[in-house]
Amino acid sequence: MNSFEKSCTVAVVGGGIAGIAAALAAARCGKKVILLEKSCVLGGLATNGLIYIYLPLCDGNGRQVIYGIAEELLHDSITLGPGDVPPNWRNEKNAIEPKRYRCTFSPASFMLSAEKLLLDCGVDIWYDTLLTDVCCKNDRVEFVEVCNESGKGRIYADTFIDASGSAIIARRANLPCFEGKNSMAAWALEYDSNAEQGAFGRYFDSFAVAMSAFDAESKVSMTETVRKKYYDGMSVEKIAELTASTGASGRIVSDFILENHRILRRHYEIDRTYRNSLFPVKIANMPQIRKLYAVKGAYLLDSGDDEKSFDDSVGVACDWRKPGKLWEIPYRSLYAANGAENLLFAGRSISSVGDAWEATRVIPVAALTGEITGVASAMAHDRNISVVELNSSELQNVLHKRNIRLFKSEI
Ligand SMILES: Cc1cc2nc3c(=O)[nH]c(=O)nc-3n(C[C@H](O)[C@H](O)[C@H](O)COP(=O)(O)OP(=O)(O)OC[C@H]3O[C@@H](n4cnc5c(N)ncnc54)[C@H](O)[C@@H]3O)c2cc1C
Repeated sequence: MNSFEKSCTVAVVGGGIAGIAAALAAARCGKKVILLEKSCVLGGLATNGLIYIYLPLCDGNGRQVIYGIAEELLHDSITLGPGDVPPNWRNEKNAIEPKRYRCTFSPASFMLSAEKLLLDCGVDIWYDTLLTDVCCKNDRVEFVEVCNESGKGRIYADTFIDASGSAIIARRANLPCFEGKNSMAAWALEYDSNAEQGAFGRYFDSFAVAMSAFDAESKVSMTETVRKKYYDGMSVEKIAELTASTGASGRIVSDFILENHRILRRHYEIDRTYRNSLFPVKIANMPQIRKLYAVKGAYLLDSGDDEKSFDDSVGVACDWRKPGKLWEIPYRSLYAANGAENLLFAGRSISSVGDAWEATRVIPVAALTGEITGVASAMAHDRNISVVELNSSELQNVLHKRNIRLFKSEI
């Protein structure tokens, strides 16, 4: 029995960075937009997951690469403060300056200011609303089933944007996806009574540690210091079991969170014994897992594709790991290979694997793909066609007018 039904032009599932940008872009094109978010705040991993470093919009050689809503959100993340961007990017764009165009921000400030941006352009935000199922008919998503305090409901839309961070629409619709491989990380916001100056002003800063990583042979590796501190006396097999996972399941996510919390407890217990100045202020409200699932799209962006150029490129992503490395994003990597003509993907579940997934899963690129999908949805509606049928050159023209760089040659 359904308790409620809603319909709109564009339904965005997930209120992380990608979902915020997608909803903003579609609503500013005059479309009726519903944004569904299972938690009670916006920002996803960037805020609720306490990953509050807005990685760069520039190429590391002084040239800006990402513009548009990604740039707007970077500045919005610090409007309620604190946080800063390097002076050359504030005042004198494209100056030759080693500091990259990025910033750190307070998660709570960003949650509040992003919500205002969306409300100001009329986005209908549904918090505490979980997508539970998807109904497809004739190669289209007909509606998504959701659950909240009212009970079960259905959301109908012309276009759906999967900005869930885990390709949840694709998986519930049984579309093929790739599983991400993950290693353990733990970030918390802490108070240090001995601190001179923290990232958010005196006393407050992050405890952030990458516990483990994968080596060249895909085996879990860990520094000796971390192993001694958190995994003393444990076998390599047991460490790998606790700190590495592939994809997600109810059990994997719960075990990841439990281990993450155990590490934090250990961190503060050690501090109690030796320094006694630290305590946790906030721990993450969602699992700090980097890669869950990516859809298998009409084009799969893969390692080495930074060498390529695509006729249907709709944006350029810079690589946070290496100055000068750039990735064109083909429109085909934002929709599924088959089976869902009115479904787009934004953020960390676009069609990418390997090195390409590492480059595209981060905050600025999530905002970029969010904006592209929001614009594409609005254009498809204006032309009374599906997003898959949308002519990529027409989309490119509109994105160009929005100041989005489409090809590496434009940087
Ligand atoms: C340990 C770690 C360190 C990182 N470091 C950085 C960094 O320094 N800088 C950087 O830029 N990036 C970093 N990242 C990556 C970055 O934080 C994320 O990839 C990015 O924020 C993803 O944004 P998104 O919008 O695609 O997805 P998400 O942030 O995952 O947003 C998805 C949203 O969808 C909602 N949702 C999910 N399922 C449902 C459902 N069924 N129903 C309704 N809502 C749903 C979620 O609650 C969430 O709000 C890091 C990630 C990790 C894990």
